Amino acid sequence: MKKSRRYFLKLAGAAGFSGGAGVLTSCDSEGTSVEGSTAKEGGPHDAEWREVKYGGWGGPGVSEGPGPMDDVLVKDHAPRSSLITTESFIERPRFPAIDVHAHHYPGRKRDQTPAEALAAWVATQQEVGVEKTVILTGATGDQFDRLAEFYLGPYPDQFQLYCGLASEGLDEPGYGEHAATELERCYRTGARGVGELSDKGFGLTGDRKLDADKRLHVDDDRLDLFWRKCAELDLPVNVHIADHPSAWQPPDIFQERTPIFQQYNQHGGDGLSHGALIDTLPRLLKKQPETTFIACHLANLGHDLKHLSDLLDAHSNLYVDISARDYEIGRQPRAASRFLKAYHNRVLFGSDMGMDKGMYRSWWRLLESADEYMEGRISWRYYGLELPENVLKALYRDNASRILNNRKI
Ligand SMILES: [Zn+2]
Repeated sequence: MKKSRRYFLKLAGAAGFSGGAGVLTSCDSEGTSVEGSTAKEGGPHDAEWREVKYGGWGGPGVSEGPGPMDDVLVKDHAPRSSLITTESFIERPRFPAIDVHAHHYPGRKRDQTPAEALAAWVATQQEVGVEKTVILTGATGDQFDRLAEFYLGPYPDQFQLYCGLASEGLDEPGYGEHAATELERCYRTGARGVGELSDKGFGLTGDRKLDADKRLHVDDDRLDLFWRKCAELDLPVNVHIADHPSAWQPPDIFQERTPIFQQYNQHGGDGLSHGALIDTLPRLLKKQPETTFIACHLANLGHDLKHLSDLLDAHSNLYVDISARDYEIGRQPRAASRFLKAYHNRVLFGSDMGMDKGMYRSWWRLLESADEYMEGRISWRYYGLELPENVLKALYRDNASRILNNRKI
């Protein structure tokens, strides 16, 4: 059933709710489609807008007047902070890190050959304290073989490679065997895991033209044999289920994130909702208890750590990585630190953000320092988590060492 946000708020008001933000969250988490919030309705005279923007404060507390900032666009706004506070520089992590989430970045460089970019990346990793990096190639066939040679030839100890899922002949009767056979072939060529397999609403092939009932979601029976083969070969699987929930909210004045993320917005599309996608994960975990899954980006539940904790409690074959969710842990340092302490043996470090030194060191600062109000990748500021040694050790390396397949090729 579709309800508009306005209609829901009216009901909530009639029922005597007063916490605006809480009402909106519960509305969104039920997957209710939000309508009726268009740019023309915003502004200081709109009660809903004021509630979303100012919460219980009711307003800015000063009179609002016109001026030159009326022309500043959200995408251009880069406020320079006046806060005088500590700025830590952490050169290397407390323990040598294993980065379980990277991609084939050297192939994307324009100013260097891939081999040059790779050598520079290895030097960077050694400088910033990354002992090993997992390349999630998502590739099969010749493409995987070429990548295996490219990384494992010169740097067999610095990199580990994950392969993809063969998706040809998805509807043919022998598909499961075909996918399992190709997996075994990739394993012999050097694959030590599978991923990143992504379902952002249209199935693992991402083909938006496929009819909804043909899309390959992770809990689909057609994949049973493949997942079992992963367990048999001791290959962990990195899955990207859903995306940040804001991607399903309208790209309008109430959109949580800044315009740089609008390319991921799929509000109004016919893919599965965020909630429906997340629900495929426990079904998969239950069906394939022998297979180890790493749900990347905090399973796209970094905004709801209670839900994520429940999933981890219920499924011992589930792990998560923190890659590209710096903003989720950085914006709620107390809850995130409690979560990381409680689940320290289930969370892995991953970056997923290129090869820059500054990027790695920003992670160390976020995880280790007590710095406040740090710059972040979106408009949200971050707060250091100041994690204790045992948590850092587990997060940076021990969990990865334990669950990765470290067999020599
Ligand atoms: Zn990734």
